[in-house]
Amino acid sequence: MNEEQRKEQAQINQVDAADRKSGQDKPLHEKTSADFAKYFETTYQPPNINKARKRGREEVDVHYDFDIPEDMKSIGEGKKFLIRTYGCQMNEHDTEVMAGILTEMGYESTDDTNKADIILLNTCAIRENAENKVFGEIGHLKPLKLENPDLILGVCGCMSQQESVVNRIMQKHQHVDLIFGTHNIHRLPHLVKEAMFSKANVVEVWSKEGDIIENLPKVRRGKVKAWVNIMYGCDKFCTYCIVPMTRGKERSRLPEDIIQEVRHLAASGYKEITLLGQNVNAYGKDFEDTEYGLGDLMEELSKIDIPRIRFTTSHPRDFDDRLIEVLAKGGNLLDHIHLPVQSGSSEVLRKMNRKYTRESYLELVRKIKKAMPNATLTTDIIVGFPNETDEQFEETMTLMEEVGFEAAYTFIYSPREGTPAAARKDDVPMEVKKQRLYRLNELVNKQSAEAMKAYQGETVKVLVEGESKKDPDVLAGYTERNKLVNFKGPKSAIGKIVNVKITDAKTWSLDGIMVENTVEVN
Ligand code: SAM
Ligand code: SF4
Repeated sequence: MNEEQRKEQAQINQVDAADRKSGQDKPLHEKTSADFAKYFETTYQPPNINKARKRGREEVDVHYDFDIPEDMKSIGEGKKFLIRTYGCQMNEHDTEVMAGILTEMGYESTDDTNKADIILLNTCAIRENAENKVFGEIGHLKPLKLENPDLILGVCGCMSQQESVVNRIMQKHQHVDLIFGTHNIHRLPHLVKEAMFSKANVVEVWSKEGDIIENLPKVRRGKVKAWVNIMYGCDKFCTYCIVPMTRGKERSRLPEDIIQEVRHLAASGYKEITLLGQNVNAYGKDFEDTEYGLGDLMEELSKIDIPRIRFTTSHPRDFDDRLIEVLAKGGNLLDHIHLPVQSGSSEVLRKMNRKYTRESYLELVRKIKKAMPNATLTTDIIVGFPNETDEQFEETMTLMEEVGFEAAYTFIYSPREGTPAAARKDDVPMEVKKQRLYRLNELVNKQSAEAMKAYQGETVKVLVEGESKKDPDVLAGYTERNKLVNFKGPKSAIGKIVNVKITDAKTWSLDGIMVENTVEVN
């Protein structure tokens, strides 16, 4: 189901746009690697949950003075870059930042590997198959590097935060020139320079999280929807998950910086923003001198003249009443809530260290539905967690029905080196896990199809993102509750919110016709 849903989503052609922010503070460009020594332990440390758990509330500095060094400002002129992104929205947004930095260095983007002078693989470590894909791609790119020794081939993102991955690349894939971690993105100009002039591989991976760098340039993927990071890292330490090690501790951006970015996006014509974080509900918990949470931030953002505001991802544990109260006011705060549950069994949730039970999750859902009767709920589920019994899996199936999730990202548990769950013996055979995933996906498909059917004959507001890749005469976009709609309409509708009458409901999308005389809803 996930693949199907993703394929549908990938069918929309978007237009590029550039976006920049600026600010001022202590000069970042004057810093060298030595200044960052507090983060830099040799080159990297293996993920170590015990060490990570001990991390404290060390002060996080916010910098507003990112700049490209003079000698790197035009180094990319006449050259091209290509960034291949794997994994979540965080990575997609990091790619927008790296594209922004390379563009400021004079590079142009290309989607042709043969024309690229720099190729970066922005990787995901969440499951083994994500990693395998990247290693496959590193292998495919080898002939290109042999043909063109000046090509800079880099690996960045979550995989490069892992020692085993760095070792494997250095030993078996020596054609990779550059490896850098998730905390080193703003160092890209320096890293590219080193890769150009150094004979050895350049590796820069900080084991400790870095500061918050505010004024990084961005080349956003589209002109209609934009990602806005509100926080970085994760301190939840779910026992299966590598993220607290690859992304570091929770660090919230200051509200004024987020508000300024959203205002700027609204003024630039963006129609929808998605607030990003691994656990956005923990927003503000790291502020020492003020009580300010996601509910407060959303309330302030709701006053900005931008039609749609979403957020992802929510952790059920930090979803508080204040947030529900603010979301219930509606307006530009949309009532689609992605609330990953992971399992329907309290015992499995305990072993996952999720810090809620089936009952408390259902209680939260009840509260949300009471405050927002039309809210759409979607989720993430892992099947085949070590030693998950048939009965525990059945609890996930009944929870799926009880909540009435309209979509779910479903995964077979994948052991991640360095996480507590990976050290556990597991008595569930892979065949059984696959069978569970199959049954769960059948149920997810059924519930999605039923939810779609309810829209038949209805008129919905669609934010039109672009043409369908399958058929340029068909336009595509999303409803407020995140349903993909394909319909025939004029190209002038792209970038606008239009009324579409639904004529046909499929499992993962809706077909419709644009209603005449649609006036843009702002
Ligand atoms: N922070 C979010 C949360 O807690 O809900 C999720 C972020 S994670 C990038 C996205 C999803 O990947 C998780 O919700 C979980 O379902 C899945 N995931 C994470 N680690 C996994 C693992 N080791 N095996 C299988 N799925 C995993
Ligand atoms: Fe991973 Fe999400 Fe748990 Fe953080 S809250 S450890 S990102 S699953």
